[in-house]
Amino acid sequence: MKQSKLFTKTSKQVPADADSANAKFLVQAGFVDQVMAGVYTYLPLGLRTLQKIQNIVREEMNDIGGQEIYMPALAPKENWQATGRWDDLDVLFKLDGAGDKEYALGATHEEIVTPLAKKFARSYKDFPFAVYQIQDKFRNELRCKSGILRGREFNMKDLYSFHTSVEDMEAYYQKALEAYKNVFVRCGINALVTEASGGSFSKWSHEFQMPTESGEDTIYVNEAGDYAWNNELFPDMKDGDDAPDKSGKVKEIKAIEVGNIFPLKTKYSEAFKYNYIDENGEEKPVMMGCYGIGPSRTMGAIVEANHDDKGMIWPKSVAPFAVHLVSLGSKDETIQDRIDTVSEAVYTDLQKAGIEVLWNDRTDQSFGEKFADADLIGLPLRLVVSEKTLAEDSIEWKERASTDMRLVKIQSAVEEVASWVKE
Ligand code: ATP
Ligand code: MG
Repeated sequence: MKQSKLFTKTSKQVPADADSANAKFLVQAGFVDQVMAGVYTYLPLGLRTLQKIQNIVREEMNDIGGQEIYMPALAPKENWQATGRWDDLDVLFKLDGAGDKEYALGATHEEIVTPLAKKFARSYKDFPFAVYQIQDKFRNELRCKSGILRGREFNMKDLYSFHTSVEDMEAYYQKALEAYKNVFVRCGINALVTEASGGSFSKWSHEFQMPTESGEDTIYVNEAGDYAWNNELFPDMKDGDDAPDKSGKVKEIKAIEVGNIFPLKTKYSEAFKYNYIDENGEEKPVMMGCYGIGPSRTMGAIVEANHDDKGMIWPKSVAPFAVHLVSLGSKDETIQDRIDTVSEAVYTDLQKAGIEVLWNDRTDQSFGEKFADADLIGLPLRLVVSEKTLAEDSIEWKERASTDMRLVKIQSAVEEVASWVKE
């Protein structure tokens, strides 16, 4: 894509309420636009990243047999009354409809998915199965903070699994846990598997917590740095205490929850009288599990973990484009022609090779502004075409995550980028 055609622009203005790296850089770089507290528009660059995260999640959910569906955001009051959450869930948005109708805006979807499954799966032969969706959720959060980390409207992938026994549900839960690990590794973030409370109906659940100062959770990490315990469940734990699994001492840190998996057991099947018929013709309650990931929060978390004082540093897997091609102008007409021709050729050949490239072809920016834009937007690889590099028949290669710069010959540049993309 040509940057001159992008309808959004970067901004030097730090947003007034920016309390975290993602709140600052995503807005300044034109990835998102704040409509009101906790509500954002995803702009062309930001939407590309969000969709990449969603696709990673989608692939991993498909891999564990998840079947994608799309449930409505608008839900009938009756469903939420059936579970008691019309009154109990304090973040639920409630709406008045025509006549005396009342609705809820989906904060989560057990109230829709349980009656849905009940319409189709009644015999033990129909189990197990899992369905998921990627959709916006609405929660009347008391305080929205840290940019897209905590929104009132936010994107979520929610998967629900249905089983005839606890053992089968627990086996699937383990599979989901591994799939979640894959998601976060592929997104380039270190999310710790964290033991948390299962609420009133299960002893435990697991969260995926990414260490960051912008996080609202306090967790205790083991010495190996690969497992943690949430302070909400272990309220008496302190920094330096023995780990519950006797693996050594724990360290207290701040973290943000990017995913959560939960054994629901029969909580919702009982609320909706969802039983299956077993081999002997007897009715038994269906076992359920639920599994959530916030792709929008994950996007914010990636920025928290990958930035410097100049801007964002996107991992290749979720960057809106792999390459930022930057053309620097010249006062000399002949040289300017050559800069244009070489840039255009590199741009076209990269695209032919299937490499996503943003080309800063703008003629109204200084060199400094173009470099500042590249650092702020944070695409993994910057290629510069200028009078200086053309004197060496080359273009300049600089990766966002490194300070090294080198020249690569124009003829071999696209090939080198193609093999770097695959690394
Ligand atoms: P938190 O404890 O942070 O409020 P939660 O436990 O209520 O989150 P879940 O209901 O488990 O969250 O939702 C699944 C996932 O959805 C979370 O792991 C997180 O990634 C995302 N999520 C939840 N609430 C928000 C929000 N207000 N804004 C953005 N993402 C959210
Ligand atoms: Mg949670």
